[in-house]
Amino acid sequence: MEPIITINNLIDDAKCYQVVRMLRWPDGQVICPLCESTQIDKHGHHNTEPKRQRYFCNSCTTYFDDLSSTIFAGRHQPLQNWILCLYFMGLNLSNLQIAHELDLNEDDIQQMATQLREGINDKKPTPKLEGSVESDEIYIVAGHKGNPEAVRNKGRKGRRNRLKGARGRGTLAKEKPPILGLIQRGGDIALKMLENVKQKTIEPIIRTTIAPGTLIYTDEYDIFGRLTEWGYQHKTVCHSKGEFARDEDGDGFCEVHVNTIEGFWSLLRSWLRPHRGISQEKLPLYLGFFEFVHNVRRRGKALLGSLLNLILN
Ligand SMILES: [Zn+2]
Repeated sequence: MEPIITINNLIDDAKCYQVVRMLRWPDGQVICPLCESTQIDKHGHHNTEPKRQRYFCNSCTTYFDDLSSTIFAGRHQPLQNWILCLYFMGLNLSNLQIAHELDLNEDDIQQMATQLREGINDKKPTPKLEGSVESDEIYIVAGHKGNPEAVRNKGRKGRRNRLKGARGRGTLAKEKPPILGLIQRGGDIALKMLENVKQKTIEPIIRTTIAPGTLIYTDEYDIFGRLTEWGYQHKTVCHSKGEFARDEDGDGFCEVHVNTIEGFWSLLRSWLRPHRGISQEKLPLYLGFFEFVHNVRRRGKALLGSLLNLILN
């Protein structure tokens, strides 16, 4: 029988540490993570990981290494597995698929992926939108602490089947949480899971994300009814009257529409599709991850550098 060769066994541990050093200290000057001093001496290597460089800070007299004060410090899995996990997440593989590729336990990958998603969410910049912005909301099926396997194993009806029956405007309680999407035409997207669809819930999100005075296009849904009061220009397209785009300024272009955000919703739905049974607790992490991926405009191997750079700095 041929041996199973997994990608993580082909990856060079030394190169992984090199990449981390390059991203943390781009000009080659090692900086103490505690006191930011540059008076640093090399101090041998990690006991069990020979490629992991250790350092001594002459200013605050502490020891640290390549991974100290990063998300990868004090982890059980080798660095190469973390980097590969992040790479596969950028390719939008599910946790199960990643576990198969790396020949690792799915629970371990689940934990690693969650920690990486949290890391990306903690560090990602808050999008700042201006110019022409479209705003809309959708409802995504996500249960509480979703674990469809466990539910099925207990002989109950699978959660996903049950949830397909839910109709109407979603709420957290209904397991169809609302997602607010704000997109600048030709620019960035901002995504937020909402507790409920009320004006007072969306007001602070809109104010921190969209520059005052910006022109915002929405449908006629009443949560957007006070945008003018909040200091924005506001135009609505009347979907209920069968209208999808309108030329208001008479230049021949139907500029009043929300087609950009609607196109984005189908991108988001395809992105979420491989990940079955995302819980409401985890959904914001997936949304934040996709927000970053979308806004950085990179895919595959080009994306890995952006993800690592964000998470390490
Ligand atoms: Zn120091």
